[in-house]
Amino acid sequence: RSGFVGIVGRPNVGKSTLMNRMIGQKIAIMSDKPQTTRNKIHGVLTRDNSQIVFLDTPGIHKPNSKLGDYMVKAAEGALSEVEAILFLVDVAEGYGGGDRFIIERLKSVKTPVFLILNKIDKIDDEKLMKTIIEYKDRYDFAEIIPISALQGSNVERLLDQIDRYL
Ligand code: GDP
Ligand code: MG
Repeated sequence: RSGFVGIVGRPNVGKSTLMNRMIGQKIAIMSDKPQTTRNKIHGVLTRDNSQIVFLDTPGIHKPNSKLGDYMVKAAEGALSEVEAILFLVDVAEGYGGGDRFIIERLKSVKTPVFLILNKIDKIDDEKLMKTIIEYKDRYDFAEIIPISALQGSNVERLLDQIDRYL
């Protein structure tokens, strides 16, 4: 089995960290500064029974320029052509305006969306439960998976779930 998977999320939620963790090599640029990843970067992961091509999709954020507007449209196009979308959020930060903007864009695509609650190493179970409730009322997510991209927790489980959508 093989297919494409898009990764979306506000700046600094851990998209590049997750992609590097899954692919196992440094292909995306990581930084604390927002929006250092300017292009879609494709990473290919070959597993025992599958091959997954990842698209790091930086264009989905509230545009403040003509170029931004173009990037959002390009990102939306890319997201309708993948098998699954990973919508990454920062559990320590919780729901915010940037997430609302992305969720609105996701409503225009039919692709299954995984809610990936990243940075669980920073919070306790109570906060995790609160954050899950905060997000799950706002969109009909195909899967909800808590992870730590930095430490690698639950990333194998995420990959196994992705395989089921290819
Ligand atoms: P991006 O802008 O969404 O691509 O985010 P990055 O991958 O560049 O990560 C932004 C910051 O969050 C970096 O300092 C990462 O080290 C940190 N980060 C990413 N994932 C995790 C995680 O699971 N736990 C913690 N504690 N920090 C993380
Ligand atoms: Mg990045």
